[in-house]
This record gives sequence, structure tokens and C-alpha cells, in this order.
Amino acid sequence: MSDAAARVDELTRLIEEADHRYYVLDDPSVDDATYDSWLRELAGLEDTHPGLLRPESPTQRVSGRPSGAFAEVRHAVPMLSLANARGDEKLRGWYRRLRDTMAASGIADRQVRFVVEPKIDGLAIALTYEDGVFVRGATRGDGTVGEDVTANLRTIGQIPRTLAPPFPASVEVRGEVYLPLRAFAEFNRARLHQGLPVFANPRNAAAGSLRQLDPRITAQRPLALWSYGVARPEDVGAGTHADTLTWLRDKGFPVNPDVSAEPDIDAVAAACARWEERRGELDFDIDGAVVKVDEADVQRALGAVGRAPRWAIAYKFAPTTAITTLRGIPVNVGRTGALVPYAELEPVVVGGVTVRQATLHNHEDVARKGLMIGDRVIVQRAGDVIPQVVGPVVSERTGDEVPWVMPDRCPACGTPVVPTEGEVQLRCPNNACPAQAVRSIEHFASRGAMDIEGLGEKTVVELFRRGLLRDVADIYDLHTRRDELLEMEGWKERKVDNLLAGIEASKARGWARLIFGLGIRHVGGITAQAIADVAPTAAALRAATADDLSRAEGVGPTVATSIAQFMSSADNVRTLDRLGERGLVMEHDGAAGTGEGPLAGLTLVITGSVDGFTRDDARRAVVAAGGKATDAVSKNTDVLVAGPGGGSKLAKAEKLGVPVVDAADFAALLSGELPAPTREGQGGP
Ligand code: NAD
Repeated sequence: MSDAAARVDELTRLIEEADHRYYVLDDPSVDDATYDSWLRELAGLEDTHPGLLRPESPTQRVSGRPSGAFAEVRHAVPMLSLANARGDEKLRGWYRRLRDTMAASGIADRQVRFVVEPKIDGLAIALTYEDGVFVRGATRGDGTVGEDVTANLRTIGQIPRTLAPPFPASVEVRGEVYLPLRAFAEFNRARLHQGLPVFANPRNAAAGSLRQLDPRITAQRPLALWSYGVARPEDVGAGTHADTLTWLRDKGFPVNPDVSAEPDIDAVAAACARWEERRGELDFDIDGAVVKVDEADVQRALGAVGRAPRWAIAYKFAPTTAITTLRGIPVNVGRTGALVPYAELEPVVVGGVTVRQATLHNHEDVARKGLMIGDRVIVQRAGDVIPQVVGPVVSERTGDEVPWVMPDRCPACGTPVVPTEGEVQLRCPNNACPAQAVRSIEHFASRGAMDIEGLGEKTVVELFRRGLLRDVADIYDLHTRRDELLEMEGWKERKVDNLLAGIEASKARGWARLIFGLGIRHVGGITAQAIADVAPTAAALRAATADDLSRAEGVGPTVATSIAQFMSSADNVRTLDRLGERGLVMEHDGAAGTGEGPLAGLTLVITGSVDGFTRDDARRAVVAAGGKATDAVSKNTDVLVAGPGGGSKLAKAEKLGVPVVDAADFAALLSGELPAPTREGQGGP
């Protein structure tokens, strides 16, 4: 067998296996992008080796098969799939082919219009009405034979039972059944709690819900419908697709109100781009926009090729979920000793970005998700936010996966970890823990704090390793260790001079930024400013009680206690003294705030009751840390702080991939101890 023939066989087998998992079991084993790449590769091989093209090839037929669990329904008009176009170029390529086919059919001079619809990520269904009464509902199945799910569809309130006259003797309405995102998030959360595998996406969840053998179970799932066509437009007297949609609306079928008619391909491209932009705001998942030729007679002239009509195309967006392998769960030690596990992933492209790591928040998060090392996991990312691990693909387990246990000793210094009262996070209690020291120094030198040029993360680690830095005060002794600095690889006179100049310049940053730089829990940049107002010198800060500190703008009891605790440590007081001796400005000049802080530039939404904060407290704390607090979750939200009872906002955030933090993480974000998510790049721990 030739190489090409062998590859065609292999691809066919891979696609058929994936189809079974996706369409019959509602539990995909590969991500859509991989699946699509197999299909494209197969089509390419069939193109270059026409002899290898078999009539039953997956490129020629609609994938999916009736499961056998339901009675079969033979579709009078086949339910086809859609060809894909990823990106503007491919969309215009489809248009050019369309014009070529029109020319070949002798209708080159016909003007065509288009309708652009959301491509809902649900499952296609056909609803048959006879004499105005809903008599049968079916899934697409393999396009020719579907499953009879009438009883289940009757549980969806949006599907009219009868049609108001006038109606045709028989008509088949087509549309997409989907699970609204909020319901999807709640559903997956409930499954996690019950120890059941999560659904990879709303489509699989909707399909799994509709294809229940017991309609009472379907009835508990809040499935919804968008209708987008009829099998035979002539049945409803429609000359255009827009006419069909009008008929559907008139008869009470839900038709998406934002479907638009477009005069030409430029307008179509713009409409597709608008859908991609709006994607994150919708309460249902879409994986693209569907572009349809409006004129029914042109549609007929164009016909279908293989498994898809020529007159429509699915303009696909970049995928936001992918499946990859969880290589390991290392644990980071934060500045105040918090142990934060994160997922180390086999690199995978999600939403156009290569993802290697994803946050896991704390050990309970890992337990809740039931992750094992070596698992295939679903990774989700929306917009430019930190990727999340949704859960494992349990059915993919081979038995070689290894359970993960949270280390009971600090991975950096070996000290037994301790729980933190009232918080999920475990901590390393060792004040001398090297990981904590490194993080503290990094924070002190960071932009919002002392902004020491030349003292980035890598340099801090190296200086720490060489024993040149043990705490933040050592930074100001580095000028006495010039020779040792020069011994470091890649460090010449210039680089050393620059670092020392950066250190010298930082001495004048001022008292408020120094307070922030100390890395006291819950103390962000703006809080530090407010603290400096009520405690304008180091001596005043040392003398201040929690009560005194609560007088500061935006400082609640949690923050005040945290500062008082910090100042009660002899080590911390000694560090402050040493900083003073080295000439740092430690008196407040009352200058305006830096406008910076750990949450600078970030927009947060608070929902539910967040332990330790009233809603107003929490909002004030966000502002004090340089962030913005808003009410509604949108794609511009950087973080959702969710306490118990955070219902719809939580669901929306989860759908948008907005990182969600609990009270403990919120406190850590405010103090800058947990790195704030960035909107550029992939972020990650
Ligand atoms: P498709 O989902 O790309 O497009 C056709 C379907 O789009 C229709 O059947 C209909 O259900 C839906 N649709 C949504 N909105 C619509 C609208 N407004 N108008 C018309 N149709 C609309 O095609 P498909 O054949 O169902 O599935 C193929 C895709 O499914 C692949 O591209 C792949 O991404 C995914 N898939 C993935 C796996 C996997 O294992 N990950 C396996 C099989 C299929």
C-alpha cells in the first residue's frame, strides 16, 4: 500500500473513532482543531489522489450515527453539515468558488445577498409539524437517519406544540438545541461534586441532555432552541432565507434577533467579525458564524458537494477549549508562603495562543477537579485571560495516571506546611524559606513598588543563589560586593553599574511605595498610600495599633490586623531599620498616589458574600489596590471575586474564562502576593 493510501486509512480510522466519541457518547477524545486538521488532511490527500476517494469517506458524508438507543427517523431532506472557513481569506475563497459555480451554472450575473447567523454550539434537530401539530422531532444522526427524540423535545418549552394557521400540511423546521452557558457551568459544577466526568463543552452537554432515554431527565436540563431554517423553503412560500426566518418568527419559533442580511462579501466579513467580538457576551456558546446565500433559487442551483451545501459556510472562530495531557502539578511558594499548585501541560494551542501552564488555585481545586498526573484534560481559555483546567477526560484514562497529593512539606525549604485559619490555602510557615525570600525581594523591586531597574526575577534568583541577597535590605549593600557581581556570567562593568544606579535611584521612591514593597498581606499600592497618610514615618507605623490603622481610607479590620501583625515581628522591624540606615526615604511627603498597585489596570467584579469583607469593603479594597470594581461581568473583566451564592456572574465568568478567585485568593491579590492576571499573553503561574 502506498504511503498516501496508508495515511488515508489511518485518518479515516481516527476520524471514525473521534466521531463515535463525539456524536454517540457525547464525550470527545480530541479537540476540534485536531479533528478539523485530520479532516482537512484527508480531503487534501483525496484531492491529490482521486483514486483514494471512497464514497463512504468521512469527507463525503455527514458524521455521526444514530446511537441505536432511539427509534430511527429517516430524514425526507438530508440534514447536511457545513463546510468550514477559518479566517477572512478562507471566507473570501469560499465566495470566489461560489461565483465560479454560479458562472458554470449560467447565473454569473445574478446578484446574491447573504444572511449571517450565529453558529450555535448545540445539536441540530428537525421538528416535523403535520396539520399544524408537532408530531416528531429528530436528531441529525448521520444526516440521512436520525434519532427520534420527540418525547425529549416536548420538554423544551420554546418549541411550539401547534402552529397558528395558515400552515402547510407538512413542514419540517430545523434549528439548534443548546444549553445556555449558565446552565452549562452549573451542570458541570454539579457533576464535579458528584464525582462525575465533566462535559467538554456546551454542545456535548446539550447532546447528552437531549439524548436521555428518560425524558424526565431531559426535562431537568434547561435546554433551549434557536431555529434557523426549514427543510423545504417552498413549503412556507419562502423565496429567500430571510423570508423563512420571518415565517419562523411569525409562528413563534425563537430566531436570534441579531441575525443580519448583508449585501456583499465585505459586509459578510464585517458581520462575522462582529459575532466573534460579541462571542463572550452571549449566553450561549457559538463556535462561528454561518453565512448563507439568501436566494432560494440560487441555493438550489448551487446544490451540495459531499457532506455540505455550497451555498453556506461556517466561518469558524479560534477554538477556546482544547484537550491536552497534564504532565505534572508543581507547587509554587508565594511571597507569604502560600502554596499554589499549577498545571504543567503538554503545550497546546487554545484560542490562538500556546498554553503550557494553567492555574489550579489550591489543593482543594485539584481535588474538586479530580485531576491525576498523566490525565488528558480539557483546557479552556477565552479572550486573553489565564487558561483554566476544566477537568479530566476520565474515559481516556489508561490506568497509568498517578494520583496527585499536595506536598506536606514546603517544596522550597522542606518545612512542614500548615493550614491557614479560615482559608483553603496551605502555607509554609518558615520566615526564612528561600522561595518566600526570593518572591519578597522580587516584589520589593517590582514596578509598582521600588521599581529597581535591572533587578528582575532572574537576577533576584541568581543573586539569592549566590548568597548576595537574603532579604530586601541586602539590596542596598550590593555596591559593596561589586567584585562578586562581576564574577557572574554575562555581568560586565556596564551591567553592574546600571544595576547599582537603579538601586540608588530607588532610595527616593518614598515611604508609601516602600510600605507597599514590604509585601504586607492585603496591602496594595493605594492602601499603602493611605497607610502612609496615617503613619507618615517608620516610627509611627511601628507605634500604630490596628485601630489607628483602620482610620486610613479603605483600610478595614483585615488589612489593619495584617499590618499590625507584620510590624510585631522583630525581623521585620530590623529590616525596616536597616533600610533606614541605608538612606531610603522613609518619611511621607504626602505626595499623590502612584496610581499603581497590584491591581493597577485591572477590572474586578465582586459577587456573592466574600468572607472577611462587606461588599463595599471589597470594592473599596479593589480601588485601593489600584483596580476598578464594576458590577457586570464582561469580556473586559479581569477577575471575578466570588463568594458563596455567586450564581449568574459566576457562570458568565466561567464561560468567558475570567479567572474566578475566592476570598483567600482575593486577599492575596490585594496584597500583591498572588500575581495579578495580565491580559497580554497567556499569563499563568
Ligand atoms: P459543524 O458543526 O461544523 O456544522 C454543521 C452544524 O452546524 C449543523 O449540523 C448545525 O447543527 C450547526 N449549526 C449551528 N448554527 C447553525 C446555523 N445558524 N445554521 C445552520 N447550522 C447551524 O459540522 P458537524 O459535521 O456537526 O461537526 C463537525 C465539527 O464538529 C468539526 O468541525 C469538529 O469541530 C467537531 N467535531 C469534533 C469531534 C471531536 O472529536 N472533537 C468529532 C466530530 C466533530
